[in-house]
Amino acid sequence: MIRKLLRKVFRRAATAVNPEPALIPVAQHGIRREQLSPVARKVCTVLQENGHKAFVVGGAVRDLLVGHPPKDYDVATSATPEEVRALFRRSRIIGRRFKIVHVMSGSETIEVSTFRASQDAEATETDEHGRVLRDNVYGSQAEDATRRDFTVNALYYDPTTEHILDYHHGVADLKQKTLRIIGDPRTRYREDPVRMLRGVRLGAKLGLTLDPAARHPIREMASLLENVPAARLFDEMLKLLFSGYSVKCLQQLREEGLHHGLLPLLDVILEQPMGERFVWLSLENTDDRVRQDKSVSPGFLFATLLWHEVLANWDARKRGDEHTQPALFAAMDEVLEAQAGKLAITRRIVGDIKEIWALQPRFEKCTGKAPYRLIEQPRFRAGWDFLRLRAQSGEIPMALPEWWERFSHAGSDAREALLAEAPGTGEAPERKRRRRRRKPSEAGAGAVADAS
Ligand code: ATP
Ligand code: MG
Repeated sequence: MIRKLLRKVFRRAATAVNPEPALIPVAQHGIRREQLSPVARKVCTVLQENGHKAFVVGGAVRDLLVGHPPKDYDVATSATPEEVRALFRRSRIIGRRFKIVHVMSGSETIEVSTFRASQDAEATETDEHGRVLRDNVYGSQAEDATRRDFTVNALYYDPTTEHILDYHHGVADLKQKTLRIIGDPRTRYREDPVRMLRGVRLGAKLGLTLDPAARHPIREMASLLENVPAARLFDEMLKLLFSGYSVKCLQQLREEGLHHGLLPLLDVILEQPMGERFVWLSLENTDDRVRQDKSVSPGFLFATLLWHEVLANWDARKRGDEHTQPALFAAMDEVLEAQAGKLAITRRIVGDIKEIWALQPRFEKCTGKAPYRLIEQPRFRAGWDFLRLRAQSGEIPMALPEWWERFSHAGSDAREALLAEAPGTGEAPERKRRRRRRKPSEAGAGAVADAS
């Protein structure tokens, strides 16, 4: 009884609504409306002209304040989803956990959500761990601010006045490079364990330090992630891997004790006896590409994460006298079958992964007509990028991707000359050495050689 009462009191305290936001003028924060996407601005103006409140909120405001180009735009409004839908021709209501509206213009999609009521509203449905399952109760802007996860994410920018409405001292926290949870961290993690992952990702991406009060409970509460649906975890892991700071994020997750058994994808990444170097190279490569605004694909990244398992399986089959190509396909299927369900990899991604893997043995044929056919393949470039990573990690000789680079760019005479001097396709010395060490009959000799 007393415990129940205490919990109620703490819950109230944890989600206390601050009705009076600080009003920060543009002279202080420096974000001009021209820096925003024109579509996000338009969405706000149309809503405001129709008598609703509307602000750009969340990641975009936060990112602009620290000088990061925003990835996408979220708008918060007093209009209901149906009212929003009626104002924009290209829009649709989508409802997964919450009902929100996607407003489309050109290639941009703005996510518009209605102000939400405080968490302790009666209608909130939770599971036995306190995780919020469903609530669609609309509330005031101040209540909406309380529902957001971090203080730096509860900033509302009005493109008309260029003011920021700051409900939880987010601007000050951002200046101090602190990521602080709104309310009681334990309660907030219980409501939605994914916030632990968001904290790590946003901290790494923006160079913010997770406030100790938010950091401490993570280790002990990590197991709550087990109750989160696999598809949502997968989405969050994708965001993390493509944040441009995946290496930093993964190191941080490991430090916080957030990997073991909780995030199957992370286990694959962190527990690679053979492919460790390759996987980290691939993650660094992905980070560089994201930061240079180059395209990245989940298929390519997952192909690298699982490649060394495929290699081991393929090698075993080849030793068992299976032919190269069928052995590779059988190995691919076996590895994907074992992993795909656990990782919630979508079917489209599986298709991309297979395409990249299937091209690899074709890079070994540097004579006759085969190279001409290979460079015409639509996925040649992805396949070649993958080949180069393999060489960088020491699995195959660098001469092979270099030869293909020259061949693909050469004129027809030069190509004939290149065909005459095709590189050997043997294994790189490092891989040979490693493979030899794994043979049980030579384990002793390998150990002696290592020690000397
Ligand atoms: P980014 O878009 O860079 O990943 P973001 O903070 O914009 O970061 P979104 O997923 O786009 O992330 O969410 C938009 C806003 O919605 C957040 O800034 C935050 O205010 C709120 N939000 C998102 N996820 C949660 C959550 N799990 N709990 C509470 N608030 C959330
Ligand atoms: Mg966002």
